[in-house]
Amino acid sequence: LKFGGSSVGNAERIEQVIRIVKNESVRHQLVVVASAFGKVTNKLEQCGQLAGNGDYEYEKLLKKIETLHMGIVRELFPLQNQSSVIADVKLLLNELEDICHGIFLLKEVFPRTHDYLLGFGERLSGIILSSLLNTRGVKMNLLDARKLILTDETYGNAQVNKEESYARIQSVFNRIDGHAFVPGFIAASPSGKMTTLGRGGSDYTAALLAAALHADALEIWTDVDGVMTADPRMVSQALPLQKLSYEEIMELSHFGAKV
Ligand code: ADP
Ligand code: ASP
Ligand code: MG
Repeated sequence: LKFGGSSVGNAERIEQVIRIVKNESVRHQLVVVASAFGKVTNKLEQCGQLAGNGDYEYEKLLKKIETLHMGIVRELFPLQNQSSVIADVKLLLNELEDICHGIFLLKEVFPRTHDYLLGFGERLSGIILSSLLNTRGVKMNLLDARKLILTDETYGNAQVNKEESYARIQSVFNRIDGHAFVPGFIAASPSGKMTTLGRGGSDYTAALLAAALHADALEIWTDVDGVMTADPRMVSQALPLQKLSYEEIMELSHFGAKV
């Protein structure tokens, strides 16, 4: 099951995700893939831009990212479970701050740094969502996507080595019991450098895992009822399509349909 940024945008939506996963977890062995919360990847991108231009405003944006994540933790976790998640989240946020400060000092965002920066969104949401599921009684093994998906070093739009990735995925999943949680979007090069699969890449993460594991089904959960006759944000009468060929969906995606 893959949940996009729009379906993990706030505490209420996350509650919905928890309900869906909980329901499904009784009947199936699950691999849950999630994106960064809401528009966090865009915010990270903006942080990099501001810091790279030597603009202190990046600090305000970092504060917003922190407030968003801490707010979600405080709203969703029972008090007695908060401290360990907050500690993990804080550790990542501190590292993010250091990276941005580094960019600020250098006044340049190198492609490799850019990928590392953008990957914080999925690392943060991964820690929060997997611990939340554990607290709510759905035991999740949080896996490191960088150990599962191997790419070249084309930062920003890395090409996946499918053969090697499938082998790694299969060998890791052979060793775990029960449900797994994998952050979307991020991967690593053969030398271990973090890469990303391109914007919107969490769908691809989920597809790679489903293919490698010969999953019975791959479900992409988002904020619309499927692929529709038009973008429902623009056309209110749009209807969900019951069936769509690979050619049609490829054409849609080539022309930039976000879905
Ligand atoms: P996320 O990855 O955040 O879950 P998606 O990348 O799947 O979200 O994009 C979903 C969005 O795509 C919808 O909110 C909708 O506005 C937009 N969209 C554009 N074209 C279509 C379409 N033909 N059918 C459905 N949604 C569409
Ligand atoms: N968070 C990443 C992005 O916004 C990947 C994704 O959402 O699929 O592009
Ligand atoms: Mg998407």
